[in-house]
Order: sequence, then structure tokens, then C-alpha cells
Amino acid sequence: MVTQAGSNAELTDLLIVGGGVNGAAIARDAAGRGLSVQLVEQHDLAQHTSSASTKLIHGGLRYLEYYEFRLVREALIEREKLLGIAPHIIWPLEFVLPHEKHLRPAWMIRAGLFLYDHLAKRKALPASRAISFAAHPAGGVLQPSYKRGFTYADCWVEDSRLVVLNAMDAAERGAQINTRCKLLSARPEGGLWLARTEAGPIAARAMVNAAGPWVAEVLSRKLGRNTENNVRMIKGSHIVTKRLYEGEEAFILQNPDGRIVFVIPYERNFSLIGTTDVPFDADPDKVEISPEETAYLCAAVSRYFRKPVTPADVVWSYAGVRPLYDDNATEAKAVTRDYVLDLTHDEATPPLLSVFGGKITTSRKLAEHALEKLLPAMGRPVGSSWTGDAVLPGGDFTDFNKYLTEFQGRFPSLPLDLARRLVRAYGTRAERFAGTNMGEDLGGGVSEAELAYLARHEWVRSAEDVLWRRSRLGLHVPEGTAARIDDYLGQAVLSG
Ligand SMILES: Cc1cc2nc3c(=O)[nH]c(=O)nc-3n(C[C@H](O)[C@H](O)[C@H](O)COP(=O)(O)OP(=O)(O)OC[C@H]3O[C@@H](n4cnc5c(N)ncnc54)[C@H](O)[C@@H]3O)c2cc1C
Repeated sequence: MVTQAGSNAELTDLLIVGGGVNGAAIARDAAGRGLSVQLVEQHDLAQHTSSASTKLIHGGLRYLEYYEFRLVREALIEREKLLGIAPHIIWPLEFVLPHEKHLRPAWMIRAGLFLYDHLAKRKALPASRAISFAAHPAGGVLQPSYKRGFTYADCWVEDSRLVVLNAMDAAERGAQINTRCKLLSARPEGGLWLARTEAGPIAARAMVNAAGPWVAEVLSRKLGRNTENNVRMIKGSHIVTKRLYEGEEAFILQNPDGRIVFVIPYERNFSLIGTTDVPFDADPDKVEISPEETAYLCAAVSRYFRKPVTPADVVWSYAGVRPLYDDNATEAKAVTRDYVLDLTHDEATPPLLSVFGGKITTSRKLAEHALEKLLPAMGRPVGSSWTGDAVLPGGDFTDFNKYLTEFQGRFPSLPLDLARRLVRAYGTRAERFAGTNMGEDLGGGVSEAELAYLARHEWVRSAEDVLWRRSRLGLHVPEGTAARIDDYLGQAVLSG
């Protein structure tokens, strides 16, 4: 039943607010369990925190210091699960940890790495080990005073692509994904949520608030609910420099303030350095790195590397806001990285689930837990978990290099670099548009065929969506490419 006020509203089982990793993962899981789903995202998919991460699928070695064993174990299990379902956008990465005995004694690091190796089963990823820099290529990057260290493995993820693949899979299972569509307000009526959105009214049997940094604002301003202030907003920034060293390994550097900073090979020709932890209370839509954060990150690397890094080396930077659950920790770095799912449901209120905190790494599991809470409240059977074994779009291969060779065999006219980029981004879905006639190259190998695919299947509307979220080609393409892409997309929209 839809009441008079909502009589023209489309009726759906689940309305999800937020097209970041958590909203998209919940949409995928719910659609696969047979619910009708509408997701509304005010901007582009992954436009906020979910494209501003360090891009690691990791257990979070440092969280062990805060006794976050539940979170670390869940995240370690997720590494291999996610690697299995999205082998195109997720791959293993070796981390080198130089030993600094005055910062953390060797026994403490060994104990942490032992837990890291054993809290969850590993099949694909190697165990940690102690190394001497005399016999490891990382020794050539570090100052000669560093003699010993450790290595361990975690995974890299193309964060914003993980969001899009979840949304695509949800859509292919029947979900409706509405981008550039803000939730304006919602209220309970007649056992339903009646929502006003920029795409029109929606009536929903249950609602999920996965608005990330806006989670409290959605509760108070859009739903008119009293909220305790249970979000801690913590800004984190990254800088990007020209590639600092040849090797494929990443570094995890201990800072005297107790924090750690990563240096990671990025986009072939670059190095990614981050992150910071800065309390934040401004508009999450307007977040940017400060000169102090840039100086802090440069100093962290210069303390360890032979060749110092200065702010003049920075070619790009980005910043995001972590919407963390407020556990009353005194310091920003100590606030829990675990998530909390808050379900409200009573006679007057249809089920409403709000997501606080969470990681890219734990998004799939978070979605499972969300549905285990929501479905009983909706009077539906929970059914079985399914997302851990079902590959995400394009991920239906096991060995990246083997599949790349097959792909090249099928499309021999594509240059190797382009073939590799397409397979990394789209996996087997690249076969849907790769070929001899891919239309005009609008810059840096971005063809009309690829853009048409992105517009049709990945909700792309602008050059910024293409160059900074569906990819980071913005770092590579020649000047003028963005304008040509915008022109092409504008014409594609006009011609329907
Ligand atoms: C610096 C930094 C580094 C990180 N590194 C890692 C890492 O290496 N590994 C890891 O696992 N995690 C990492 N994280 C954490 C991870 O990025 C976040 O936990 C995750 O992206 C949060 O996703 P989300 O979906 O909750 O929020 P978001 O991605 O912010 O999505 C929420 C969405 O809701 C939308 N929205 C808000 N209000 C409305 C409305 N009224 N109507 C419609 N839509 C609305 C917003 O536009 C936004 O897109 C990092 C985070 C930061 C900031």
C-alpha cells in the first residue's frame, strides 16, 4: 500500500542513501537476495571517501596495537575473498617495514606479524619474514643506516572501481542505481518510508543510510531524527610524486608520533604517499590537503629514503573524510576503524539501518551483516550469504597474466600497454568494446568505444568521472583530453 501523499511513489523493498562502497555493497547483496532496491547517490558513484582511500585491502597491522582483533581478523579473511572475486582490480602487494628499535621493539613487530599471519587462513598471500637490507632491493632506496626490517603481504585495490563493480552487479540483479540524485527528505507513513529524491518520490519498506560523512546529517536534516553525535570525522590526505624507486614493493614507515605512512608504487610512473589523521568539522564536499599535511608526509618519507621528498615534488594530492564511529578515543589516530550498524525499528518507524565507520576492505562483510539485521526486521528470511563466491563484473578469470595473454591473442591490434590497462580496469568486460574499430582516440588511449561503454554501463556523465574515478587517467592524458571527453559525452547524451 502506498498512502495518498506517496500515491505516485515507486514502491521498493529497500532504499539506500549513498553510492560509496558501503551503499553499493549493500545494494549488491540485497538485490542478490531478491529484494527490489533503489540506491540514490547525490553526486557520482564513489565521489567522496570511497575514492580517497590509501587503496589497500588490508588487515590493518597497526590496529593490532589497539586490540582490534575482531576487525583485523575479518579484514584478513576478506583479503583473499575479494582477491578471488575481483582479480582484475585487486592484487597482492609486498610491504617493507624498516626496523626502528626505538619506535617499536623487534619482539613487538614479530608478535604483530605472527598474529597477522595466523589470525586468518592464507592461500594466495605469502607469510611475513625478517629481511636484511643488504640482500633486498629496498636497501637501495633506504638510507644506509637501515640494516634490517620485515616484509609482509596485503592487497592493492582500485577503490572507486570496486564501488562501480558492486553497483553494476547490483543493477544486473535488478537494482536501480540513481546517480546525481539526492535524498531530500523521508518520513514514515503507513508502514513505509516515503522519500523525496531528486528523481521523484520513492516509497520503501526499509531504508539504509550509508551516507558516509553525511550519515548524521541525513539522520537529523533529511529524516528529522534526533541523533547523538556518534560520528567522528577525521580527514586523511595523500600526495603523489613521480615514481621514487623502481621496485614493485611498498613501504610502511613508522613515524615518531606513533603513526605510520605508506609509500606505494602508483599508476606505473608515480608513488602514492599517505596518509594523515586530522580532526575535521567542515563541509565534507570541500576537503583538501593542507600545506602542513604535505610537509608532514614529505618529512615522513625523507626520514627514511636516501633521496628526500619535498613539496615541490608533489604532482597531485587528494583528501577524504573518514566517517568513523565515535568511541570517545582521545586521539584521531586511535578512533576505532571498526563499523557499527544501528537499526531503528518500532511501531511508528519502518526499518532504518545507519552505517557508521567501516573500511573498503570490510564493505562486503558489512553488507552481509547489514542484511542479517535488516531482513528479520522486514519480516523476510535472511537466506544464505552469497557475495563471497560470486565474481564481480569482469572478474571471471583466476590468473591475470594468463588472461591478459588470451586477451591480446583475441585483440592483437591493441598495443600491450592499452590491453593491460583495459584488462586491469574492466577484466573480461573489456571484450565488450575492444576491437579494431574503437572510434577516435580522444587522448591517452581513451577511445570513443570505451567512453560509450562507460556511459552505458558505468553511469559516467563527465570527463571527471572518467579521468578521476573510473580510472586515474587524469595523471597520464595529454592536455585537452578532458574537454574532448566532455564534448563526446555531451553529444552521446544528446543523441540518446
Ligand atoms: C584517507 C583515507 C584512507 C583510507 N584508506 C583505506 C584503505 O587503505 N583501506 C580501506 O579498506 N579503507 C580505507 N579507508 C576507509 C574507506 O575509504 C571508507 O571507510 C569508505 O570509503 C567509506 O565508504 P562509505 O560508503 O561509507 O562513504 P562514502 O564513500 O563517502 O559514500 C557516501 C556517499 O553518500 C552520498 N550521500 C550523502 N548524502 C546524500 C544524500 N542526501 N543523498 C544521496 N547521497 C548522499 C555521498 O555523496 C557519498 O558518495 C580510508 C579512508 C580515508 C579517508
